[in-house]
Amino acid sequence: MIVLGIESSCDETAAAIVNSEGKILANILRSQISDHQLYGGVVPEIAARSHLEHLDRIIFTAMEKADISFNQLGGIAATAGPGLIGAVMVGLMTGKAIAATFQKPLIALNHLEGHALSPRLTDKEVTFPYLLLLVSGGHCQLLIVNGVGKYERLGTTIDDAPGEAFDKVAKLLGLGYPGGPAIERAAILGNPKSFKLPTPLKGRKGCDFSFSGLKTAVYQLIQKIKVKTGELEEQHKFDIASSFQHAVCEVMINRTTHALDKYRKVCQIGGHLVVAGGVAANSELRKSLKGLAHESNIRLSIPHPSLCTDNGAMIAWAGIERLKLGLVDGYDFAPKARWPLDPKAGRPLGMGKPGKLGMKA
Ligand code: AMP
Ligand code: MG
Repeated sequence: MIVLGIESSCDETAAAIVNSEGKILANILRSQISDHQLYGGVVPEIAARSHLEHLDRIIFTAMEKADISFNQLGGIAATAGPGLIGAVMVGLMTGKAIAATFQKPLIALNHLEGHALSPRLTDKEVTFPYLLLLVSGGHCQLLIVNGVGKYERLGTTIDDAPGEAFDKVAKLLGLGYPGGPAIERAAILGNPKSFKLPTPLKGRKGCDFSFSGLKTAVYQLIQKIKVKTGELEEQHKFDIASSFQHAVCEVMINRTTHALDKYRKVCQIGGHLVVAGGVAANSELRKSLKGLAHESNIRLSIPHPSLCTDNGAMIAWAGIERLKLGLVDGYDFAPKARWPLDPKAGRPLGMGKPGKLGMKA
């Protein structure tokens, strides 16, 4: 079975062709970084227009590279949310059009499920249930993955996502966009112990995360240094980047340790800790998690960095997992801006209450 996967939830326009053995026949991606760089972050309207401009060509390139025709496809999987709604619509509508034209099954995929199942694409030993740390530009969650479509959320962020914190701190330091890789490069030249930054929620009960206080602390630190020395020297930037990255890793390890305790109640021995999402590309975080997995006697599985950030292959693969179970969707499936993996999970403590005008976040 061969599936076309289409991804357009944020600022990557991507299409991939994957078969049911997990062979990636084509994986084409166009990052919109240059479209948004000037603004220091993703502009939703520009993202949607850019997907519209490039998606058809990217799909045709993927089909050509895989050397197959639309008739040979077993199904079309397209991200149907969560994400920037205009961006999601472009990919989903294109997927629907191809599926309807060639009378193929449509899999309207939850983008987060794409990330969640991605480790099974390259590591066949990852079996259910596994513990998932999903860390990206828009999300931060610890979940037990019990099966396709079966997720139990143990914790989430009560404010910002870690990728967003990386991007914001990089912006404050003038390191450019996207911030994650820029911070990582700068951090190599800095000392992680130069500045003691807060590690929000570390040591507290539970598995939730918080990053906004850390962001504010970096902002205040920069102001303090500027008042003292007039300007931020290069070495200051490296040291702040390194200290910030260190604080993020400390929080991640602490919260994941708590989640491991809960996971051990459903999987007493063996098992897998799986990490996905763009921030999982961070080598310092990968190193820290390797240490934790070793100490906790659990196998660690992190996809290659190119499969951690948004891509079409993870969408095609999750589509295959769903197709194998006969889980397909109607051509009238509506795109969703919000779409939690575990709809039963309550709002985390400290996130505030929904206002009269509706739900926050
Ligand atoms: P995603 O939302 O999964 O596409 O991931 C994008 C986010 O991951 C952005 O916020 C990036 O700044 C972040 N990111 C990408 N590479 C790294 C890295 N090496 N270290 C930390 N964050 C990263
Ligand atoms: Mg993502």
